[in-house]
Amino acid sequence: MSTPASTAQGRWSDTTCLICGAATGHLPTCAASNPDATNHLTQTLPDGTTRTWTVAGIRYTATEARRQAITALMPTMTWVHTIDQPSLPFSTGALVNEIVPQPGIGRRLARIGYHPLATLRVPDCGCTDLWRCRCDFDDHPHAHAHPDLWADYPLLALVLRWSHGWGHLWLLDIGTGAVVIADDYITAPIPAGATKACAMGWCHRCPGSTRPAPGQTHRPPCGCSCHTQPPCGSNSGDREKGTTGES
Ligand SMILES: [Zn+2]
Ligand SMILES: [Zn+2]
Ligand SMILES: [Zn+2]
Ligand SMILES: [Zn+2]
Repeated sequence: MSTPASTAQGRWSDTTCLICGAATGHLPTCAASNPDATNHLTQTLPDGTTRTWTVAGIRYTATEARRQAITALMPTMTWVHTIDQPSLPFSTGALVNEIVPQPGIGRRLARIGYHPLATLRVPDCGCTDLWRCRCDFDDHPHAHAHPDLWADYPLLALVLRWSHGWGHLWLLDIGTGAVVIADDYITAPIPAGATKACAMGWCHRCPGSTRPAPGQTHRPPCGCSCHTQPPCGSNSGDREKGTTGES
């Protein structure tokens, strides 16, 4: 019997794989069958973002309910631009310092998202097969367990500037370190002629013009649309313009 991944959940007493639905072992298509798999699920969001849920985070993301609990926290984050040298809560700063030296992160890190109260409640269970753990299901005996057997982990986000898009790394602070649970990517090329500040999304810090070409003194104006358009989101009903096309 094959069960679609999205309905492979059922009751707490079930023992099927939460991802592939296999009663024992895993289907060949299941990420658990592939030692090289880094993601167990890939989604396309309405805005075009590709969201991948990592195998490393399977314990926290194997069910629709767990993923929804995480996505519900995402809009509550406080965002800070790294150029502003923000002062972060101690544990957040320590985790960021641990992650940032990893190759490809440091110079791309544009923003950090955190929220001390945006925590995810997860069962701190002893399950060894995380692809089958249902300790957070309704009526599971664990639901009545001592509060110490439930953990509240804060969500953290790192926004990375790639040359053709933006990446969001979503992490869970599990106390002993950070686990990357989801990885978002949306295509958004750096605007032509943008300064470093505007390329990184630090429009409030843009000097307005870029370095002169060799042998020149004229500083070309920054190509980012923030200098000719109101910041997006300032008023969503105010989108039509028509005054920026002159050249
Ligand atoms: Zn499976
Ligand atoms: Zn469990
Ligand atoms: Zn800008
Ligand atoms: Zn600019």
